Amino acid sequence: MKVLVVGGAGYIGSVCAELLLNEGHTVGIFDNLSEGHRRAVDSRAQFMEGDLADRDRIQATLAAFQPEAVMHFAANALVGESMQNPSKYFRNNISHGLNLLDAMVTTGPKQLVFSSTCATFGPPERVPIDETLPQRPINPYGESKLAFEKILRWYGEIHGLRFVALRYFNAAGASENFGEEHRCETHLIPNVLKVALGQNPQVEIFGTDYDTPDGTCIRDYIHILDLARAHILAMASPRSEFYNLGTGGGSSVREVIDCCRKVTGHKIPVVEKPRRPGDPPRLIASSEKIQKELGWRPQFQNLEAIIQSAWKWHQKFPNGYGD
Ligand code: UDP
Repeated sequence: MKVLVVGGAGYIGSVCAELLLNEGHTVGIFDNLSEGHRRAVDSRAQFMEGDLADRDRIQATLAAFQPEAVMHFAANALVGESMQNPSKYFRNNISHGLNLLDAMVTTGPKQLVFSSTCATFGPPERVPIDETLPQRPINPYGESKLAFEKILRWYGEIHGLRFVALRYFNAAGASENFGEEHRCETHLIPNVLKVALGQNPQVEIFGTDYDTPDGTCIRDYIHILDLARAHILAMASPRSEFYNLGTGGGSSVREVIDCCRKVTGHKIPVVEKPRRPGDPPRLIASSEKIQKELGWRPQFQNLEAIIQSAWKWHQKFPNGYGD
């Protein structure tokens, strides 16, 4: 298929584009490089620099490239930042995303895979979180993604847009070529690995008084390649759906740090800090629905394998993409 990957120079988009190309699809990448990196653009893809804020630009891009499907990764995705700057999240994730949907309606492609998030659920009544649980976000990031999910339903109903929204839990790990690098790194695993690389003296643990066995937050870390595979399956889905996407396992912040110690052989000093606003204590996915309906299966079930792939990438590219 011919696929436009919007946000394809970012962490998740770059690996999805790589997998699409490996499987023989034709890929265009649209990215404003605000969070993405030029070097994260696979050389086999056609790169089109542009910003979703510019409605004419995305419309002209779609009209010229004529994709059959679109994958939409271009959004801000930091819980902490969204608690300080909600406007950025509502503007970029909702209003600029609408420009993409309107341009799709005008120019024709009917199939969309959308990056959603477990942050749309807020603290769940129970784990694992399946698709029937109520969505009650506790930060503007999750709220912005939930609003976009609702918009998708209406564009489906009114304009016949076919979409699959994948609610990721915690994307982690790397492919051989592409990995996780944010200009301002707030994510746990890259922050811990930076300590192992000698780039930071210690890692901060945000909150040690949660109601979890070791007092730190629990997350479901899913390998980026498993996540990318789900996008390819979603692209072929015959109908619009919402799927939760994780491994079904949970690891605490302390467990992640211990696992990084084991993989890197570094002692990784820690400092305990207060809770980070907007963090739910425990997020674990039930991915039964996508397993049943699309035949998705995670290949990387253990945290160590995920961290090993991330560590390999960080060692190969200690300064990330260098931009
Ligand atoms: N976290 C931490 N120290 C860090 C970065 C993150 O203790 O340097 C915690 C964070 O508070 C959360 C968990 O690790 O409980 C996962 O955070 P991350 O930002 O990686 O992903 P999120 O779940 O927010 O999408």
